[in-house]
Amino acid sequence: MNQNLMSRAERRRQEKAARKQPAPGEGAQARHLNIQALKAQLQQAASPQEAQQIISALVVQGLPPAAGEELAAYAAEYHEATVVLQAGEDAEAVTTVVDNAHAWADRTIDRSPERDRRACRAGCAFCCYLPVVLATAAEIVHLATWLRTHCSPEELAALRQRLADRSRQSVTSASPSRAQTPLPCALLQDDRCMAYPARPLKCRGWTSLRREACEQAYGPGQSPSQVPADAYAFVMGNAVLNGLSDSATQAGLDGASYDLTSALARALAMPDIVQRWRNGERLFEACR
Ligand code: SF4
Repeated sequence: MNQNLMSRAERRRQEKAARKQPAPGEGAQARHLNIQALKAQLQQAASPQEAQQIISALVVQGLPPAAGEELAAYAAEYHEATVVLQAGEDAEAVTTVVDNAHAWADRTIDRSPERDRRACRAGCAFCCYLPVVLATAAEIVHLATWLRTHCSPEELAALRQRLADRSRQSVTSASPSRAQTPLPCALLQDDRCMAYPARPLKCRGWTSLRREACEQAYGPGQSPSQVPADAYAFVMGNAVLNGLSDSATQAGLDGASYDLTSALARALAMPDIVQRWRNGERLFEACR
C-alpha cells in the first residue's frame, strides 16, 4: 500500500512536470521571446556600461557566456548608434553610424577563436555568387554615398548596368530550368568587391573554413549550408546588424534589411537618398 501511495505521488509529480514541458516549437518561441525581452531591457539601460552590468549579472545567474558576448555586441552597437542618431537631423550621421557599425563588427569578428583557420583570401569570391545579399537600409544608403564618392561616372554607369542585368537575371532564373545558375553580385569586379570597405555586415560575418567546400557549395545545384563557416563571426556580425537595425527603428527610421541588388539600384537613382532616409521614408519596400 505504501508503495502504491508512493507511485501515485510519483505519478502526480511526473504529470505536473509534464504539464510544465513546452509543446513542440513552444520552447524555441519562449527562448525567442526571452531574447526579445532581454534586448528590450538592454535598450532601456542608461549607458553601454549599464547594459554590460546587466549582462554580467545574467551570466552570473546562468546565462551562457557565449550568449552574453552576443548580447554585449548587440547592446554596444545599439547604444553607440542611438547616440549618433539622436544627436540631430544631420544627414552625415548615416556615414558615422554605418562606419562605426562596420568597424565594431570587424573588431568583434576578429576576436573569433577560429580566425586563423579561415580560408577567405582576397580574390576568392565564391560566396559573392549568392542569389540574394541582404543589407540594412542604413547600409544601402551609406553604400550609395560611398560609391558616388569613390567611383568615376563611368564606373557608376557600368555598376548601374550590372545591377539592372542581375535584377533581370534573378527574374529569369526563377524558372525551374535555370534555378541554380550562380549569379555574381553586381559589386563584384575581377573577383573582388569594388566597395570592400563599405560592404554590408552580412558579407563581413560570412566566412569559410574550407575553400574547396565553397568551390563546391556555390556551384550549380549546391547549397552554402554545406560550407563549414566561422560560427562566432556569423553570430557577432548578426548581433551588430541587429543592434544597428533596432537603433534605427527606435529612432523612427527604416531599420529593415533588403535585397542589395534592387535596393542599391534604387538608392543610386536618388540623389537625396541620405536626407530621405533621415526623414524616415521607407524607400526600399519594393526590394524585399
Ligand atoms: S557586396 Fe561585395 S562582398 Fe558582398 S556579395 Fe557583393 S561583392 Fe561580395
